[in-house]
Amino acid sequence: MRLVLVGPPGAGKGTQAQYVAVHLSVPQISTGDIFRANVGQGTPLGLEAKKYMNAGDLVPDEITINMVRNRLAEDDAAKGFLLDGFPRTVPQALELDNILADLGTRLDVVLELVVDDDEVVRRLSGRRTCRGCKRIWHVDFDPPTVNGICDACGGELFQRDDDNAATIQNRLSVYAASTAPLVAFYAERGMLVGIDATGPVDDITERAIDALRRFG
Ligand code: AMP
Repeated sequence: MRLVLVGPPGAGKGTQAQYVAVHLSVPQISTGDIFRANVGQGTPLGLEAKKYMNAGDLVPDEITINMVRNRLAEDDAAKGFLLDGFPRTVPQALELDNILADLGTRLDVVLELVVDDDEVVRRLSGRRTCRGCKRIWHVDFDPPTVNGICDACGGELFQRDDDNAATIQNRLSVYAASTAPLVAFYAERGMLVGIDATGPVDDITERAIDALRRFG
């Protein structure tokens, strides 16, 4: 299955992507994760992307689209993939069509995680990520047993640079202006399925898998 996950920052895309990708046996391809890995390694791409990420703005298309084109051409994506965080705009969606057409394939479905703005702010401000296994935690809603340490792998937890109040507000504005039209775009194509992304993580995963069955 070739699947895109959309939803506002903090909707739980990263969390759900991990579980749904395992269920579907496809690689999870997160543009945010790839950018953060490049920032961490100090690559030229990372240095460029960091300026935009720290402000909560989108990284320019010429950088992002090239990166996705290269990633989708890798062997593990040949039989399917779950894209998390791309496309984020209608022009990126049109580029994705081109990339997939060049690879002789097309997208099957777009899964939207629906969450309101207040919930998103609560989630993002308490979010912590494991440096080791990338498992996502929340200081109140899903705390690890030992503060700052991942239960799953013992790795150190960190707070993303862009999870601060000012950047969160800008990311929500960017979502409303640039990504919400993308949701309408896929709805018009009959490719969109939306699920309520509030409540326990396992329940949301179950809803996601149920919703995808109809496209399977
Ligand atoms: P995420 O981890 O999906 O929340 O992405 C973190 C940041 O990476 C975003 O706020 C953007 O600065 C950048 N980013 C991720 N995906 C994209 C994309 N498809 N287009 C442009 N910028 C992106």
